[in-house]
Amino acid sequence: MNCPFCGYFDSKVIDSREVNDGIRRRRQCLRCEMRFTTYERLQPASLFVIKKDGRREEFRREKLLAGIRKACEKRPLPGGAVESLVDEIEGELYQSGKAEIPSAAIGDMVMAKLKKLDHIAYIRFASVYREFADITTLKEEVDSLAGHALTPPADQLPLLPADELPVQTNKPRRVHR
Ligand SMILES: [Zn+2]
Repeated sequence: MNCPFCGYFDSKVIDSREVNDGIRRRRQCLRCEMRFTTYERLQPASLFVIKKDGRREEFRREKLLAGIRKACEKRPLPGGAVESLVDEIEGELYQSGKAEIPSAAIGDMVMAKLKKLDHIAYIRFASVYREFADITTLKEEVDSLAGHALTPPADQLPLLPADELPVQTNKPRRVHR
């Protein structure tokens, strides 16, 4: 970057520190000796998501964030929990070094993390993402989760308060002949 004061092309770095997702550098112009600040942010390589129907679309953090936010709506999660979950996934995706990743793989990563974070959010996300064919499949997932959750982590609320899921009250319809 040229000096904003005199336009000279070269400067020296007199201080640099990491900030959020980048590096802040304090620079001094080699000609006029004025000081200025630059920020460097990592520009990740493009990452494409392969959708179920085979289409590719560029990975968008906002989209992932929106999906997870929706699953976590009104859940008593600590501030920033959803964002850091998305940060983790994003980091793992880019660190994988792959240029393309199936949407199913991302979905699985989200589910694994939500399962640890909040069971209700997990079930909500799973019901959309897995497109549970019917309430029985969903109930099986809930039951298996309930089985695992005999000793739920201390920071989680009890699984499935009565009004959280439209679990059907009558037994699954089965035709007996
Ligand atoms: Zn200068």
